[in-house]
Amino acid sequence: MKDEKGILFVLSGPSGVGKGTVRKRLFEKATDLKYSISMTTRNRRPSEKDGVDYFYKSTEEFEALIAQNELLEYAKYVNNYYGTPRKYVEETLAKGSDVFLEIEVQGAMQVKQNFPEGVFIFLFPPSLEELKNRIVNRGTESEELVLNRLKEASKEIEMMEAYDYVVVNDQVDHAVEKIEAIILSEHLRRERI
Ligand code: 5GP
Repeated sequence: MKDEKGILFVLSGPSGVGKGTVRKRLFEKATDLKYSISMTTRNRRPSEKDGVDYFYKSTEEFEALIAQNELLEYAKYVNNYYGTPRKYVEETLAKGSDVFLEIEVQGAMQVKQNFPEGVFIFLFPPSLEELKNRIVNRGTESEELVLNRLKEASKEIEMMEAYDYVVVNDQVDHAVEKIEAIILSEHLRRERI
């Protein structure tokens, strides 16, 4: 019998590994997948749109969401809050659609406690040198923020063991193909005739 509930996929990886690019390319192809848009208190980057990339909140608004138990998980990352809206994820899974989260590791570990049946994927850089170059060259952050992101990146890499899959982002298309293969096999694993 086919499992009626959707599958929760969680993608993490250090800042600069290219999670955003991989996720966007994946969504151009995997049209059945639903992306959960996160809440954050960080400033919007010029290229970003409210309600598309994130829902941008003040610290007060975010703390109210925490108090009302509206977040499935949340974490502080480089002095800002990031969190996943609970209702969207639960309702979408219940309707039978897969949900995809792109979140950092502390939040992913909270999700793992509540959704042990979720599928946890860690995107790994081709080399640490390249990761550093990507964070430095992004040019959207001050030097202090770049250093903080580098520190977070090495902490995140230490948590890799807790994930079900590690995908090396050597080329975006390859990484996307591997994630598509993971999605397909996780469906097959759950399907029983
Ligand atoms: P950025 O500021 O570069 O958009 O994101 C910083 C980090 O926060 C990234 O690792 C990103 O995956 C993570 N992030 C984005 N949304 C969420 C969320 O809802 N919860 C958690 N825990 N992390 C998130």
